[in-house]
Amino acid sequence: MADTIFGKILRGEIPCHRVYEDTHVLAFLDIMPLSRGHVLVIPKEPAETMDRLSDDAAAALGRVLPRLCRAVMKATGCTAYNLLQNNGPAAHQAVFHVHFHIIPKPSGEAGLGIKWPAGKLDAADAAALVKSIAAALA
Ligand code: 5GP
Repeated sequence: MADTIFGKILRGEIPCHRVYEDTHVLAFLDIMPLSRGHVLVIPKEPAETMDRLSDDAAAALGRVLPRLCRAVMKATGCTAYNLLQNNGPAAHQAVFHVHFHIIPKPSGEAGLGIKWPAGKLDAADAAALVKSIAAALA
């Protein structure tokens, strides 16, 4: 995969405001926060998107995310937050190294704005989807 700004942060070539680190995971403040306390959580494994991440790296991220969410909420006083993970340019990914955003949602405009164009689940398509996703998992 191509080198990214997060690879440079992991190698210590550019600085970050580190809030947590262990063998597999690094968390630091987003340089352009959507709200106060916006944190990025990245695996040290250099996968571009979630579907390319190993089970071990994913497990390491999953193990620490709830603790980081609690810490960000405690530090900011926010009780609401979004956990966001973008994959691919069409899904708003700008840095091609897997990352989770922890974005506190204070009252008012700050934080993540979401457009949610909900549709209706078609019964026949639901059956087809279940079949094809199950087949892909097998
Ligand atoms: P994406 O759109 O890929 O999900 O989000 C990438 C995030 O990385 C953005 O929120 C952006 O502000 C953040 N970011 C980009 N470059 C840097 C950097 O050099 N340092 C830090 N701390 N965050 C960065």
